[in-house]
Amino acid sequence: MAAFTSLTDRLSGAFKHLRSKGKLTPADIDATIREIRRALLDADVALDVVRSFTGEVRERALGEEVSKALNPAQQIVSIVNEELTKVLGAGVDRPLNFAKKPPTIIMLAGLQGAGKTTLAGKLGYWLKDTGHTPLLVAADLQRPNAVTQLQVVGERAGVPVYAPEPGVQSGSSDVVSPGQSTGDPVKVARESLRVAQEKLYDTVIIDTAGRLGVDQELMTQARNIRDAVQPNEILFVIDAMIGQDAVQTAKAFDEGVDFTGVVLSKLDGDARGGAALSVASVTGKPILFASTGEGLKDFEVFHPDRMASRILD
Ligand code: GDP
Repeated sequence: MAAFTSLTDRLSGAFKHLRSKGKLTPADIDATIREIRRALLDADVALDVVRSFTGEVRERALGEEVSKALNPAQQIVSIVNEELTKVLGAGVDRPLNFAKKPPTIIMLAGLQGAGKTTLAGKLGYWLKDTGHTPLLVAADLQRPNAVTQLQVVGERAGVPVYAPEPGVQSGSSDVVSPGQSTGDPVKVARESLRVAQEKLYDTVIIDTAGRLGVDQELMTQARNIRDAVQPNEILFVIDAMIGQDAVQTAKAFDEGVDFTGVVLSKLDGDARGGAALSVASVTGKPILFASTGEGLKDFEVFHPDRMASRILD
């Protein structure tokens, strides 16, 4: 995965040194752990996460499971794999939480440009593909183009869009409009639930406004939408390319809206993606999906174990 290419190369370099050794001394193990630590820090993984990760790996690597292993180097790779899986959220790994009684309400939150609108299309497309009847809701009324952008995305995905302004059709007869104009995102979100119930949409995906930086007004608005519709999932979308800021942003959104899951976006980008890897560990919330491009199908359900294996590949 592009965002982790350099991390993957560095880690495999660290293991290569180890493999050429045969028998391992504590000094060999420490040298490897130092290399792993540098590789993680250079990839922008948060310092606290690196510290606890390398601490765990070191303790296990110096213990019996390695000294008694037939292939100690291979055993260390397995330990790193298991510990990385934990950092990525093993144990909190779970599927999307569907409501027992439809509609399931999914709210998207995150900074502007994080990839929320794109994700709305991908999620809608994926849900439709798995037999659901999703409805996208344009509750980002901050940016003039946001509603139109969601309508374009919805049309591409073949998923209807509930938009606050009447007559903003984008060529699709599927586009639903409430018939009255309103500039209040809370009202739009609330009305969309009525439409979903009436027209039997089983999943409602609410796109919300994002700002360039975290701000209180944005957070209050997101919280008001949340309180009005009581979502089954609040997905925090984080751009893997934003680097070190990922952790602070995630913490702010966690405090602000108490999100239920994370979506890592732009994992296809070639910036250092390590900070995004820290988000599950720092917030204790599961990463549910990964977004890997601009296309509708560039999207996958996130599995910590598979991602760890890919990073260590
Ligand atoms: P929003 O402001 O959070 O709704 O973000 P958008 O969905 O508008 O996305 C911002 C930009 O990032 C757009 O140009 C998208 O095409 C692009 N984008 C979104 N997700 C991805 C992704 O996974 N990979 C790449 N390369 N670009 C993405």
